[in-house]
Amino acid sequence: MAYLAAPLENLIEQLCGLPGIGPKSAQRIAFFLMSLPRADAVELARAIVEVKDKVRFCSICFNVSEGEQCAICTDARRDGTVICVVEEPRDVIAIERSGRFAGKYHVLGGAISPIDGVGPEQLRFKELIDRLKEGSVTELIAATNPNAEGEATALYLAQLVRPLGIKVTRIASGLPVGGDLEYADEVTLGRAMDGRREL
Ligand SMILES: [Zn+2]
Repeated sequence: MAYLAAPLENLIEQLCGLPGIGPKSAQRIAFFLMSLPRADAVELARAIVEVKDKVRFCSICFNVSEGEQCAICTDARRDGTVICVVEEPRDVIAIERSGRFAGKYHVLGGAISPIDGVGPEQLRFKELIDRLKEGSVTELIAATNPNAEGEATALYLAQLVRPLGIKVTRIASGLPVGGDLEYADEVTLGRAMDGRREL
């Protein structure tokens, strides 16, 4: 694309690396960004840098956080006896949106997937066990995605925790099989949460 100005070409290239953005979308977005008032463009660039500089992972649950510990872990009104175990921070957002859960979270950082070379040791199970040893947790809700990797992860979790005498439940079916939690609507996710069963 030698006919494009080099900075524009560079921006299109950068955008092309984003999830779900192909070359055509990248071009459309790049021209849109070019049409923005300078202040808006600076604001957007600043927001990207700020996320890199200021957002990190909570030292307890590994959700995204501005401080050492996230707003959910530090909220005394939330029930510390129930922990909802999810794959990614995006899933926390989805479950929070359902409004049916008032406990705490643990973000594993993915799901067990032998094909992709992801075993339990790559996920934050050890950190979870350390949390459970403190003794106040009575139930873990396995809210991993309703696909093969998510199911395998939920089963592994149940086996891992059984010796500790902590109940492990699985969010109910009704979620689209093979799908991602983050795409489930609030009502479906709320129902799945209410209808959870012991593993
Ligand atoms: Zn946290």
